[in-house]
Amino acid sequence: MELTNNARIILEKRYLKKENGVPVETPEEMFMRVARAVAGAEKIFNPSLTDVEIEEYTRRFYNLMTGWDFLPNSPTLMNAGRELGQLSACFVLPVEDSMEAIFTAVKDAALIHKSGGGTGFSFSRLRPKNSPVRSTGGIASGPVSFMKVFNAATEAIKQGGTRRGANMGILRVDHPDILEFIRCKENNNELTNFNISVGLTKEFMEAVARDEEYELKFAGKVYGKLKARQVFEEIVDHAWANGEPGIIFLDRLNEGNPTPELGEIEATNPCGEQPLLPYEACNLGSVNLANMVSGGGVDWDKLAETVYWSVRFLDNVIEINEFPLEKIKTMVMGNRKIGLGVMGWADMLFRLRIPYDTEEAVELGRRVMAFIQKEARQASRKLAAERGSFPNIDKSIYRGQKLRNATCTTIAPTGTISMIAGTSSGIEPVFALAYTKNVLDGESLIEVDPVFRAYIEENFAPEKANLIFQQIAAGKSVREIEEIPPDIRRVFTTALEIAPEWHIRMQAAFQEGTDNAVSKTVNFPSSATKEDVRRVYELAYKLGCKGVTVYRSGSREQEVLISGTQN
Ligand code: ADP
Repeated sequence: MELTNNARIILEKRYLKKENGVPVETPEEMFMRVARAVAGAEKIFNPSLTDVEIEEYTRRFYNLMTGWDFLPNSPTLMNAGRELGQLSACFVLPVEDSMEAIFTAVKDAALIHKSGGGTGFSFSRLRPKNSPVRSTGGIASGPVSFMKVFNAATEAIKQGGTRRGANMGILRVDHPDILEFIRCKENNNELTNFNISVGLTKEFMEAVARDEEYELKFAGKVYGKLKARQVFEEIVDHAWANGEPGIIFLDRLNEGNPTPELGEIEATNPCGEQPLLPYEACNLGSVNLANMVSGGGVDWDKLAETVYWSVRFLDNVIEINEFPLEKIKTMVMGNRKIGLGVMGWADMLFRLRIPYDTEEAVELGRRVMAFIQKEARQASRKLAAERGSFPNIDKSIYRGQKLRNATCTTIAPTGTISMIAGTSSGIEPVFALAYTKNVLDGESLIEVDPVFRAYIEENFAPEKANLIFQQIAAGKSVREIEEIPPDIRRVFTTALEIAPEWHIRMQAAFQEGTDNAVSKTVNFPSSATKEDVRRVYELAYKLGCKGVTVYRSGSREQEVLISGTQN
């Protein structure tokens, strides 16, 4: 098994089983623990399997992961085959309008965070600020004040050194407190454990297009009217200022709801890629596209085979998952949603020598994801023949068919698992081809994108290659290095060199072949204007995206990743 230095550090810090703070398993043993636990589900479905047959499944799942063809989401790597056994990354909890219900949700979220999962909530059912409270004769403090309670609870947990908790807070654009919500993260030190998104409706988008007013409503009562364009501008201004709020298109999420009879979708998980019903959870996994290239083209046979085993893996995960709440178990076992996605897309394009910001790349993205979707559904149908369809199928849009999983595909950010696999994250372009990493003893180390490194080392003498890596790590663009032929310079393009429109077009192309949603951040240079942000929001709506997240360089005081250097 080949591991980058970064990957080894991450695994040791957060994933390997530890006793008294010291790892008591190697990375290989960790993957074997996960493979064995996941293969164990085969026995539940088919008790007549022999130990040798189970061992074959174990080996297959082990190779799938350690060949870096596929990785499940972090909680599965951390917890499979261990006492905690909570394997899902994404949860949505309902927040009803009573003290009892609000604090039940706080408690449920705490239990989920403790187990490594992230939670999303819609706060739209909470009565607006200053509404009367009948039992006390007082007045309500409104959704934003309660979000602070969830935030404080999350802060206090910190997940025992593995992951901090993460939340998504959503408010419908027609909730009377919408302006307070849009402004609630103006100060970067507030609500630090939340991402926030405004839930936009079709009605609102139409009012924006016609420059009309729309109604603010709660529980059937109209509280007032606002000019739709003004609210839209307010969202854009704040997103331009520091990346928050994001937006999600509620009607579109519900058009993609496979089980409308079971309820309406009102929220997503923390990074936005997984719309879920209240009390639903989903386990994600990602195919590494960088590994699906052979002879200068996409290796479709390998991709099909990888998708089949990944779907089987994820369906097994549901079976061995230990759920933090009984209600969640019931929902998950009823719909059996899984979210297979991709990572390493930018590295695949590098390998194929196709620049990210081209029609050709967008078309290939559309084809690759449509192929994954088709193969994933086929795998899910095969599993249904073996194991039965998901129990709620007759309450779903798949009534009368055979399908094991109510959804099959989701594109996750793959923030950590892509580092473990040593590839680019999700469908994002590469942020920097090389950057300097400061290691503990004051020394610095240059990290280079693996495909770029391979190209340079093949074509330049070692000394020259090192010089190029140093120049790029120091902030020089590949476009300025004249020894590299122009068509190759064009291929190795990075996030901030790509016009925002291409980010959205790529997101939309992948969305077409995805049941759930796509995690994507549209990166803007710091010089971008509010008008640039507004255009991207409108394009995302027009092209069928389910939501958008933007980020303008330098707009938050503490940036996670700075082109050139990283600490
Ligand atoms: P990973 O690469 O670690 O598997 P991703 O970056 O793909 O995770 O994120 C997938 C989902 O996992 C997120 O949308 C969110 O639901 C959940 N998640 C990510 N980070 C955290 C965190 N620190 N705490 C809780 N949940 C998280």
